[in-house]
Amino acid sequence: MPMTTVAFIGLGRMGHGMAGRYLDAGFSVAIWNRSKAKAEDLIARGARWAGSPADAADGADAVVTMVADDGASRAVWLGQDGAATKMKPGALAIECSTVSYQHALDLARDLRGRGLIYIDCPVTGLPSAAAAGKLTLLVGADAADLDQAKLYLAPIGDVVRHFGAVGTGTVFKLINNLMGAVQIASLAEGIAMAEQAGLDMNLVAEALATGAVASPQVIRHSKRMVARDFSGASFTAALRHKDADYAVKLAESLLARTPPVGRAAVEAYAHATAKMPDDDEGRMIEIVSRPK
Ligand code: NAP
Repeated sequence: MPMTTVAFIGLGRMGHGMAGRYLDAGFSVAIWNRSKAKAEDLIARGARWAGSPADAADGADAVVTMVADDGASRAVWLGQDGAATKMKPGALAIECSTVSYQHALDLARDLRGRGLIYIDCPVTGLPSAAAAGKLTLLVGADAADLDQAKLYLAPIGDVVRHFGAVGTGTVFKLINNLMGAVQIASLAEGIAMAEQAGLDMNLVAEALATGAVASPQVIRHSKRMVARDFSGASFTAALRHKDADYAVKLAESLLARTPPVGRAAVEAYAHATAKMPDDDEGRMIEIVSRPK
């Protein structure tokens, strides 16, 4: 008889859609978010609103979290009313938020010490993919633990990449997002230069999106930057900065020299975050496009 009770914590752009997937899949779902307004439609669809992460976790077979950063993750798992205080021994703790490598290791040690199973599971994919159950899941876990978690991963992801032990999913996610930060910051600089030099910007956008530098990030952001169309923000400047910062700190622990390109991307996104923390990361173009 499979376990089917899930607690889902963190109903932001990503978490809201992910929680809905468990309802669609027929799980019994308890939900908690710092601000309750984001939960209303999920409650109407049958989710149980919990008064705290601990209340959500009470009786759950698996707890899945999707919150902003290390501080938020620490609060919802280990705070006074944190999920860990009420989870039953042997339950699964699945952290999907993008957190720092050190936090992932510390959290895993703490939760394992309480007799819980920890799965490191950051994701790639936009909020639309989260709502459709089509995220790519970047897992760090013991193989046997991953087997046990698969029932709870299936509703939210269609690709599972298992990189190794706990923490390795986060290592890959931070590398991936630091490279994304570099590409987007560099794209903004290229577009700003082309604008100031008077090029045909429709042609520039098309050439960038179909040429040798056309990564999915460049394809996604080039036309939006040229058109200054940032409707439907999906990933904020503040979250991109957080990921790049965590990634460079990890790089500093692995490499003899602080990676200069990564550090430049952190600085670029620190600047963007100071000006527009909750805006789309692509609005970086508005910062770099001021003419000389
Ligand atoms: P978001 O829309 O800003 O949502 C952030 C969530 O974290 C909200 O539920 C927020 O609660 C909660 N939160 C923040 N600080 C908290 C605290 N101190 N205590 C408790 N809860 C707190 O962000 P998102 O885009 O869904 O991203 C969530 C995670 O997924 C992040 O780690 C992000 O890096 C990662 N991610 C995002 C994307 C993307 O495309 N957006 C893709 C892959 C991975 P409130 O609602 O009360 O503010």
